[in-house]
Amino acid sequence: MTPYKIALIPGDGIGVDVTQATMQVLDAAAAKFGFALEPTTFPWSCEYYLEHGAMMPADGIETLKDFDAIYLGAVGWPATVPDAVSLHGLLLPIRKAFKQYANIRPHRLLNGVEGPLKAEGFDILCIRENTEGEYSGAGGRVHQGQGNEVAVETAIFTREGVERIIRFGFEQAMMRRKHLTSVTKSNAQKFSMVFWDEVTREVAADCPEVTVSHMHIDAMAAKMVMAPQDLDVIVASNLFGDILTDLGAAIQGGLGFAASANISPDRALPSMFEPVHGSAPDIAGQDIANPIAAIWSGAMMLDHLGQTEASAAVLKAIEAATGQGIGIRPGLNSTSEITAAILSALEA
Ligand code: ATP
Ligand code: MG
Repeated sequence: MTPYKIALIPGDGIGVDVTQATMQVLDAAAAKFGFALEPTTFPWSCEYYLEHGAMMPADGIETLKDFDAIYLGAVGWPATVPDAVSLHGLLLPIRKAFKQYANIRPHRLLNGVEGPLKAEGFDILCIRENTEGEYSGAGGRVHQGQGNEVAVETAIFTREGVERIIRFGFEQAMMRRKHLTSVTKSNAQKFSMVFWDEVTREVAADCPEVTVSHMHIDAMAAKMVMAPQDLDVIVASNLFGDILTDLGAAIQGGLGFAASANISPDRALPSMFEPVHGSAPDIAGQDIANPIAAIWSGAMMLDHLGQTEASAAVLKAIEAATGQGIGIRPGLNSTSEITAAILSALEA
């Protein structure tokens, strides 16, 4: 069969280390399950920016368009390039161009990982709206007077944007435990969040098999700490999803375990897979970054490409390693030790 064309953007810092680890594991999975990945590496990063004055070439998006998926390590090197430049020069344009409106993050405790809470059995899929809402960038300084300045920041929720993310949430819930929790703050935000609730109810009517709960963001934050095992799929706006997924990552043991995908449900466009963590300059190039978040993101990519068995096998191999205590705490094992353990479990 034709190999899957993967655009690899290792990026900066530990992005490079964990991308390399991920590709080793994905290639082994591909060999085992009888398919192939054909990666093309793009050196787009802060280093590239310093040399070329842009994070990617002007035709970068055009170049990525024909790939089956994009895999990104991490971008950012704040010591030399402001985060706003790396974000607005690479990540955001890719998400936008390919309509990757669903940011999905699985949160659960891997075998052997303890986490800061007694959260045994929690298994959440957080779906964050990725293109509009509170991060639309609409607003400004409307009054510049001295001592009485006024700044406004307007959240924009469109029918199209809200409906598609909620529908996506229901589709995911159908593939899991059929429970969806919509997170809002409709008691305080009476336009946008009330609209979100309305759309949720409309979509729910088309999908009676899914049980729907509505929760306010504050109550949800408490719930995720007190009883995360009661939750299944969570759908939230850009800002609320941002906050909840950091909480989810913490409960699952930290950034070393937090995987994510930016999904473009339009199958003609590439989706992008990346660990939640950034480039972590403090530990870059020392072979100490935990590659599990990145490898798990790679497993999500295989799943998206339709290689569900290979994806499940990679996750099983990750948990075989963590089950033996490998990589379960920061500093315990090197990147290469963790990768080797996952590889040997996969090949066993
Ligand atoms: P960004 O702004 O790019 O989202 P950030 O500055 O918020 O990122 P990260 O770079 O993700 O944060 O990481 C914060 C710290 O967490 C790092 O400095 C590092 O010490 C630790 N860390 C992050 N990812 C990992 C990992 N995979 N393995 C081990 N430690 C990690
Ligand atoms: Mg950072």
